[in-house]
Amino acid sequence: MRETPQGFLRPICLRPTSSEEESLFDAVCPGARIAHEPSNLEADYHPVWGPLIETRLGWSSDPALRRNASSGGALSAILTHLLASGEADYVVQNAADRTSPIRNALTISTGAEDVFRAAGSRYAPSSPLQDIGARLDAPGRFVFVGKPCDVAGLRQLARHDPRVDAKVPYMIAFMCAGVPSYRGTSALLKAMGIEDESAVTAFRYRGDGWPGFATAVMADGRKFTMNYDTSWGTILNRHLQFRCKICPDGIGEFADIVCADGWHCDDQGNPLFDEQDGRSLLITRTGKGEALVGRAVAAGSLVTEPTQISQIAHMQPFQARRKGLVLSRVGAMVLTGRRRPRFAGLALADNARKLGMKENLRSFLGTLRRLVAGIGKPLS
Ligand SMILES: Cc1cc2nc3c(=O)[nH]c(=O)nc-3n(C[C@H](O)[C@H](O)[C@H](O)COP(=O)(O)OP(=O)(O)OC[C@H]3O[C@@H](n4cnc5c(N)ncnc54)[C@H](O)[C@@H]3O)c2cc1C
Repeated sequence: MRETPQGFLRPICLRPTSSEEESLFDAVCPGARIAHEPSNLEADYHPVWGPLIETRLGWSSDPALRRNASSGGALSAILTHLLASGEADYVVQNAADRTSPIRNALTISTGAEDVFRAAGSRYAPSSPLQDIGARLDAPGRFVFVGKPCDVAGLRQLARHDPRVDAKVPYMIAFMCAGVPSYRGTSALLKAMGIEDESAVTAFRYRGDGWPGFATAVMADGRKFTMNYDTSWGTILNRHLQFRCKICPDGIGEFADIVCADGWHCDDQGNPLFDEQDGRSLLITRTGKGEALVGRAVAAGSLVTEPTQISQIAHMQPFQARRKGLVLSRVGAMVLTGRRRPRFAGLALADNARKLGMKENLRSFLGTLRRLVAGIGKPLS
């Protein structure tokens, strides 16, 4: 995986591939295909929120981890429990690159300190599957943490490669609104008042509170910050790659457990971004994910409280609409002769219908305009 001049990570082919390898990529790569196998689903399928066993709110019982993490640290609390209980030998996850704090790196966590360091959302490209072939041959069982697309890719690989189920006891995702490029990170640093990126010695996009502040610490000790509403809502979300705009799974449908922000809402049901004690939304999608949450609570790592499925749309209004927009956008790709990904079993037509004719038309025309303007250029 290499960083492109546009600031995204893309796979580079290092040798010619065989036709068997190519058909495997086609079946497994989440950029090309995202499809449920209905016979493999253990839970009832909710058309908007995917396979659902149980929905809760939760946070880490360790106040330091809860504060350091992205929302309530529920995801990291589960990882810490898995390592402490010996259910997994290590975790494959993403963290700040140790040599370049404004870049992401795949990291291997073997204990609570590593998990603490990796906690928090990093709104930039990541490739936690980059060494999956070698990793599946290495000793030890590992928990995999990734974006919904990373987890969908690994789950799809499991249908073709028995090593995945043997080596990966749990796959955990977080909800994802899309991946901004590193140009987004540069724009953010600039807007924070930083001229020289190379002088940044530590950088977080949020966390250290909920939602916390984008914070850069400089070599001379100066500290620059920006609130979440401004950093995500006005800068980073303008740098998303096109593939994320047609993503049918921002909610981690292929994971055993998915975590998200359990935002508090105002009287109109809109999320509030005032600083609060962190709270994650926690959805279990498989029986073993549900049992794991039960064990993490019983062991005292994780605190949970009940919530209703009907509340998810208030906490996640963007995700609630998102699946409905996919078919109209993909339709615009087809009309302009672009190669399109294949999606199946995700209730996309139901969601599009619910959105109504006007919204579908608006989404189709908006995407068409964008694609026509960019004809001949690769989709970034
Ligand atoms: C690009 C992006 C978009 C997101 N969009 C949404 C959204 O639409 N709605 C929503 O509710 N939440 C979104 N989040 C996730 C959210 O910010 C929290 O991760 C989630 O609320 C869980 O919080 P937590 O405190 O339980 O997790 P934590 O305990 O903080 O754990 C976070 C985990 O995410 C991993 N991680 C962080 N950044 C990346 C990355 N770039 N790639 C792969 N793994 C990473 C870390 O390794 C860690 O294991 C997004 C996160 C990212 C990185």
